[in-house]
Amino acid sequence: MCSGEARVKDATDHFDRDFNVVYLRVVRGCNLNCTHCFTLGNRDAFRLADLGEIELFLTTLRERLDTRQNVFYIHGGEPFLAPKAYLAQVNALIRRIFAGRRFDIIPQTNLMYPVDAAFADFLKREYAGQIGVSWDPGIRFETGSPRLGEELFFRNFRFLADAGIEMAVAITVQRHLLKTDPLEVVRRLDGAKSVDFEFLTFFDEKTRDLRVSNVEWSRYFASIVRHYAENRTSWALPQVDLFTKSFVENKIYQCKCNCCRHRTFTMNADATVGLCPDETYIRPLSTVREMAANWPAFAAKALGDHVEQLATPLQPLCNGCEFFDVCGGNCEAHLFNENEAECPLSLAALRYQREHLAVFRGKLDEALERLPELKKESPVTEARP
Ligand code: SF4
Ligand code: SF4
Repeated sequence: MCSGEARVKDATDHFDRDFNVVYLRVVRGCNLNCTHCFTLGNRDAFRLADLGEIELFLTTLRERLDTRQNVFYIHGGEPFLAPKAYLAQVNALIRRIFAGRRFDIIPQTNLMYPVDAAFADFLKREYAGQIGVSWDPGIRFETGSPRLGEELFFRNFRFLADAGIEMAVAITVQRHLLKTDPLEVVRRLDGAKSVDFEFLTFFDEKTRDLRVSNVEWSRYFASIVRHYAENRTSWALPQVDLFTKSFVENKIYQCKCNCCRHRTFTMNADATVGLCPDETYIRPLSTVREMAANWPAFAAKALGDHVEQLATPLQPLCNGCEFFDVCGGNCEAHLFNENEAECPLSLAALRYQREHLAVFRGKLDEALERLPELKKESPVTEARP
């Protein structure tokens, strides 16, 4: 149990105590080599995170924050390259250390390996049948191995959907995606629990080459949002549902762009740590041992990041935007394109949503049944000054 002293916030500690997202990067190494990936994919030397370091990381978070609700993402590389017995040990640590608190454990996988009934049973036993799945056309099936083609993904996806596994699908917004038919994409993902579109992090020439025009992206996304409104779908669109909550409640909820600095924690397989998972892989803030021994120093480094983000000036497009009170203008600056009157969130989709709010309230009610992250306690954030 934590000491009262440990829970006292010091001046540098700005972390959320209601809801945290914790990435445990248990595996370094992957079976794929995606163009947009910040890891070295299948060229990374394989490594499992040390169980003792994971225990220390988790114990530190429990003692220092004692957050009411956590989501633990079991991450890599590809986490299912790890032995099942090891993954079960990681889960046993989480259950022991976070006993008495609400949490979910969700592995994040590329689903590009043989899948069978024993695997589905393992997912049900260890993860309550919930997984996060990434699918990225044009940038991940280029491994040179015909065994790792896109058909394998959809065969596995269908098998797990039929076995009752709840899949949250993440798709990166990148130029090859826009060559696909959006409605065909979501039709193939029928059976998923949710579909999330994630923005790229640009860190080299390869990733900059994947940039999209926001006008084209908006057209693509708005057609999916319309389809969502007009049809019964197995999947929710969490970002859209969150905006519905904002429209209805007149509050701004945290989105992925602005939540990392105060509610997200990542541990890499080599026991380095940080906040946002992408940045932590490239530029960790600290190590597990340092974080455990000197929490105020870790919190001070994290606060530096947070302040820097708050001080970033608003994008010209956000100034006077009709949706500023809904979104708060928190998108990263690099996601805007000069000379485009469209933003990464799709003003077209937001306008459509506002015009059909009653329909989207119904979709939100359905989504709330399935997505714990959309429940009432989703953290509220402030608009950028
Ligand atoms: S599947 Fe994920 S971890 Fe593996 S190379 Fe692709 S993006 Fe990176
Ligand atoms: S909807 Fe787009 S343009 Fe408007 S405030 Fe949000 S990010 Fe800025």
